[in-house]
Amino acid sequence: MKLVTFTESERVALGRMDTEGRVRDLSEVVGARTLLDVIDAWEQLGPVIAAAADLPVVDTPRLLAPIPRPRRNLFAVGKNYRDHVREFGRSGYEHPDRVDVMPTVPIVFSKVPTAVTGPYDEIDPHLTVTSDLDYEAELAVIIGRGGRGIPVDRALDHVWGYTIINDVTARDLQRDHQQWLLGKSLDTFAPMGPWAVTADDIGDPGTLEVSSTVNGEPRQKAPVSDLIFDIPELISVISAGITLRSGDIIATGTPAGVGIGFEPPRFLAPGDVVECAITGLGALRNTVGSKVPEE
Ligand code: MG
Repeated sequence: MKLVTFTESERVALGRMDTEGRVRDLSEVVGARTLLDVIDAWEQLGPVIAAAADLPVVDTPRLLAPIPRPRRNLFAVGKNYRDHVREFGRSGYEHPDRVDVMPTVPIVFSKVPTAVTGPYDEIDPHLTVTSDLDYEAELAVIIGRGGRGIPVDRALDHVWGYTIINDVTARDLQRDHQQWLLGKSLDTFAPMGPWAVTADDIGDPGTLEVSSTVNGEPRQKAPVSDLIFDIPELISVISAGITLRSGDIIATGTPAGVGIGFEPPRFLAPGDVVECAITGLGALRNTVGSKVPEE
């Protein structure tokens, strides 16, 4: 099942995509509940939503991120595809010796909730803050049932579903501030969507393929099975000491082909169109804006 959060005529509501790609309004089934509310009560509401028939078609929906404002920081994982570790090391951005040592444990960082923006919204280039704007197409996991100390062999039972995140990054801030939070969390730095797809629709996430293009030119392409630390391991490691909660989001890392991987780097500029796609999950399509700084 593909669920969306949409806005139409100033109202924000939950919808279900039908097989023809139309948005069906779920308001009469779930009322004013958000996707987070629905995931919290999925055991009761999931079957009701799945069975709902003859839902009205929404004529002119504008899709928002499926979870437009997560309850807390998004978890994210750095350097989780081998070829990306190599390109990142080669770039010299992280270390002048251009080392490309494979991580032996997951590198977990976070992005603030206010970075989230819609699947077709503009990316703010923050022209006065960064000159090294980069993209990272990623599979994101949405947690259903929370828990602490979740073992690897039961981790997928805690996954509610999946979506796409572009882990937009200001490489200069990422480098200069040591901690990645600033470079990863500027406003609009987490385009998400276009749908949230339930885990039962996906089956084995390792079979999915992550890809991206910039202005139509292919940049990234890799199967999720290339992850160094797979989804069960990430859930197990994060939940070892942090209780995961319903609605938590984990961006699992990005494959090779980001702007920093080119020599010289190919950073994003106003007017560029970035598409991030994953099989079965649709595609994000975000244009880099030319927004002037706000007071
Ligand atoms: Mg990333």
